[in-house]
Amino acid sequence: MSTAAPLKFQNTLTRQLEEFKPLVPGQASLYTCGPTVYNYAHIGNFRAYIFEDLLRRVLQLNGYKVNQVMNLTDVDDKTIRDSQKAGLSLNDFTAIYKKAFFEDLKALHIEPAEHYPAATDYIPQMITMIETLLTKGHAYLADDKCVYYKISAFPEYGKLAKIDMANQRSGTRISTDEYEKESVADFALWKAWDAKDGEVKWDSPWGLGRPGWHIECSAMSHAILGPHFDMHTGGIDNMFPHHEDEIAQSEACHGCKYVNTWLHCAHLQVNNTKMSKSLGNFFTVRQLLDAGFTGAEIRYALISTHYRMSLNFLIDPETKNSESLLQARSAIQRFQNFLGRLHDLGKDGAPSAEAAKVSDEAELAFQNALNDDMNISGALAAVFDFVRDANRLLDAGTLSKERAVATMKVFNSILGVIQFEVKNEFPAEALALLEERAAVRKAKDFKRSDEIRDALKAMGFVVEDSASGAKLKKI
Ligand code: AMP
Ligand code: ZN
Repeated sequence: MSTAAPLKFQNTLTRQLEEFKPLVPGQASLYTCGPTVYNYAHIGNFRAYIFEDLLRRVLQLNGYKVNQVMNLTDVDDKTIRDSQKAGLSLNDFTAIYKKAFFEDLKALHIEPAEHYPAATDYIPQMITMIETLLTKGHAYLADDKCVYYKISAFPEYGKLAKIDMANQRSGTRISTDEYEKESVADFALWKAWDAKDGEVKWDSPWGLGRPGWHIECSAMSHAILGPHFDMHTGGIDNMFPHHEDEIAQSEACHGCKYVNTWLHCAHLQVNNTKMSKSLGNFFTVRQLLDAGFTGAEIRYALISTHYRMSLNFLIDPETKNSESLLQARSAIQRFQNFLGRLHDLGKDGAPSAEAAKVSDEAELAFQNALNDDMNISGALAAVFDFVRDANRLLDAGTLSKERAVATMKVFNSILGVIQFEVKNEFPAEALALLEERAAVRKAKDFKRSDEIRDALKAMGFVVEDSASGAKLKKI
């Protein structure tokens, strides 16, 4: 079998398609910005987490051992604000959404990361980094209690978001975690405690306070993956200021390149508009599950658009009827119908050389598409072509069941939406009657055979006789 094309990604840092060259052969270190646990994550957030799951699975398909970190932001402006509104301690409040997040990951068949560090467990590491930045002249103390990053001391600032720093005023400061490109400014590394923060405070060399959001990811990635690692990802909104600030902090602190490859996914929109609570088009995974869709359907709808293309999720906000999820349902149904046919095929037919070729070529086309910056449309085309060709060979009685199932398993190692265990949909009592029917027919007891047929009908099943034996079917 031919070997797959080299694995390539579009690196946001260079804006180039580049071959993946890991720092340690055979291994891939990956930092993925995780949720701010102040609410249930919405389907836009899950577009990002599913793109990252696709990435880890594509790395694994290429034989890499993945070491993935996904942080949990459990202290920042938003978690503090909303825990106070809820009248709960920060810990009790964020615990609710941490638990919900892991439930949702499971529902969407997202493979667990190797590490889920929570920001509040890494405050000492953040303080150490801030101290180093102060010592090296990359940070300064303001009003004797807040520490800011000094952008002018890092000439490469803006290299990820491509900001022309020549036109920026230096020395302006910003204390909120989120801001626009137009307001590039020295950002907060350590925020002094004020009454608004309530019980949320840690001791530091600069008095009581808490870290800024950006230093959290720099400190956690360093603690787990070291100063220089392979890949870092997030949604496109994370590129600026969050990732730009992470680069500035980490490179100034450790004196080496921070990350080789940056990947960002485009946003998910709902019915062509930005998702927002006020527009009533804001959906969480659990709302869609409650509306009767499955985790696999949501996963398929989120994974099947290329990660750098905007994804327009179609849903009726009133009825929750979703064209996107119905399309996903019908795609998954095609896979399941094919597997159902394979399952019914008691034993292998006479596998042909053509059957082996169809499998080999489909697996190669699938991987080649994914290796080209995760071209999911090309990969799905390979899957559908395979299902069509394999169905044809199945009709001709020349498909190897074992080989075809193995190919579907390769596809599913990436897609994560196919069920391989065919669940027994018939009650034991009905199956026992079916067995008895076969015996009495052999003994030519047609009276009893008719009684059994009627009993099964009363249970809601008809018997269909075929070359491979009698089968039950729901009426
Ligand atoms: P947050 O909890 O806001 O920090 O976001 C967590 C992740 O979800 C980040 O990687 C964001 O970039 C990503 N994200 C937020 N909104 C969307 C959206 N509408 N579409 C895709 N990704 C998003
Ligand atoms: Zn982050």
